[in-house]
Amino acid sequence: MPLPPIFTSRTLSFLLFPSRSFRSMSTLPSTTSVTSKSRLRGVVFDMDGTLTVPVIDFQAMYRAVLGEEEYLALKSRNPPGIDILHHIEDWSPDEQQRAYEIIADFERQGLDRLQIMPGALKLCGLLDSRNIRRGLITRNVKAAVDLFHSRFGITFTPALSREFRPFKPDPAPLLHICSTWDVLPNEVMMIGDSLKDDIACGKRAGAFTCLLDETGRYDTPEYENVAFKPDYKVSSLAEVYSVLETNFDLIP
Ligand SMILES: [Mg+2]
Repeated sequence: MPLPPIFTSRTLSFLLFPSRSFRSMSTLPSTTSVTSKSRLRGVVFDMDGTLTVPVIDFQAMYRAVLGEEEYLALKSRNPPGIDILHHIEDWSPDEQQRAYEIIADFERQGLDRLQIMPGALKLCGLLDSRNIRRGLITRNVKAAVDLFHSRFGITFTPALSREFRPFKPDPAPLLHICSTWDVLPNEVMMIGDSLKDDIACGKRAGAFTCLLDETGRYDTPEYENVAFKPDYKVSSLAEVYSVLETNFDLIP
């Protein structure tokens, strides 16, 4: 017997898999049920190491800012990784300025060697063809975002840099993008190569998350007990679109 019109596949999936209990199923094979698809209206990308090939040696940057001894101590206390911007926030203004100069220097060297991540332009084109929104959140500076936009002829809107406070892993920038787009956080996916920044930001905002792990570095035991785990994991941007198409209804 046909269902009354009110029971669309979406309302049925909502009734069958209410709220978050359904979220944990999102990593199951898509064959679970076609009715388990969530609507996805936007994708928010990290920039460095996600849309661009990683060229900034972050460990060398942390060493230069902290000194070897403090670097090693801090690293052992923070298995998921050091949050350098957060760490230097309570330093004296002089120390902070010195730290920011070192960071800026590393970032400038990164800009000189800037390359777009393989698969990024194609993925963006596919998202555009479905009218799915594209945003960007980076802990890098606005000048780096401007250069990225102009060099590769592609624009993300909104694109929030570290001038937007508080920055990742705080969920604020992602929530800001959601409200700018007028979409719910659970209609958005955050994609990034950092578990501690991108995935934490996305999960805290209530969004879906996808970790880009090109080398399998997050497969090691030290990341087993992290607070925030991604809903999806890919080893290249080329895999992202099929993850989206398989698991979501791409409806802007
Ligand atoms: Mg990154």
